[in-house]
Amino acid sequence: MREFELIQQFFQREQADLLLEEKAQASVVLGIGDDCALLQVPANKQLAVSVDTLVAGVHFPADAKPEDIAERALRTNLSDLAAMGAEPLWFTLALTLPKNSEYVSEEWLRSFSRGLFRTANHYEIVLVGGDTTSGPLSISIQIMGAVESHQALRRDGASIGDFVCVTHYLGDGAAALALIQHRLELGSEHQDYLRERFYLPTPRLLESNLLRGIASAALDISDGLVADLNHICEASDLGAVIDVENLPLSPALLAMNNLQQARKWALSGGDDYELCFTVSPDKMPELAMLIAEGKIRASVVGEIVAGSGVHCELEGEPFELAVQGYQHF
Ligand code: ADP
Ligand code: MG
Repeated sequence: MREFELIQQFFQREQADLLLEEKAQASVVLGIGDDCALLQVPANKQLAVSVDTLVAGVHFPADAKPEDIAERALRTNLSDLAAMGAEPLWFTLALTLPKNSEYVSEEWLRSFSRGLFRTANHYEIVLVGGDTTSGPLSISIQIMGAVESHQALRRDGASIGDFVCVTHYLGDGAAALALIQHRLELGSEHQDYLRERFYLPTPRLLESNLLRGIASAALDISDGLVADLNHICEASDLGAVIDVENLPLSPALLAMNNLQQARKWALSGGDDYELCFTVSPDKMPELAMLIAEGKIRASVVGEIVAGSGVHCELEGEPFELAVQGYQHF
């Protein structure tokens, strides 16, 4: 298949089927097909931009279902927009596909494209361009969103005494990877839950939209709570204490009957794509209200303190972690 046909058949044609929201339609002056897309940033908003590359065998098993690969790639990128409190608008897709391989088959591309647009439609984000080239299988997505000027949730806003909070559960990403790599055995209901958490992580966009004006700092947890909270600490020039007994663990993680392992995964496992955010004591009643109303699921797991680095405690005693987080190199 030629590059031009491939783009038209799997990435442009499908796009035409999309029932674009008015907002998306208005913001795309010119989409796929020219040398550049022309995009209109909504008035009084700032553009939030991020790019992430997923490499086969590193970020996903090379034999994973193409739909799953596509959905995971787009969802993890959407998680970066959530981390800033931004609303999704557009994305571009750079695909590197091995020549004469199963990956340039109609079947593979159709499945990939189906997964990609399922997620894109769900989160109302528009594919506006990309690049297609040959080489080892990898997928780069550049994501763009808009956030009210000067209201983005940054990493550098934490203060001493702020509570450290996380959304939903931690450790599921690492447990799911262990399951996929046959290092963990669990009942089938927990297996299904964990697999879904791995391939279809939920970008916490609804939560982050509510947290603008409440959170003092935020990021998404991709490399593990300790490693990622440390980014907030460094950017804010402070330290943090995590109360290990307060880490939120899913029923699947608890079913392992190995609390030590579950806590290690929650602290340093990575791939969770939950939000970690800080909230000053005077904003806590607003957060408590959102939790009570069922609008956000979040737990307090620690506190911002003077000093530097992230320290873990279990019932007030130091809790040592062998590994701090995922290291790429
Ligand atoms: P150029 O050589 O000018 O960069 P290309 O031939 O690479 O143009 O791309 C033609 C058009 O198709 C451009 O609008 C580009 O954004 C789009 N495009 C290329 N690959 C993809 C892809 N994988 N997904 C979506 N759009 C793509
Ligand atoms: Mg090009």
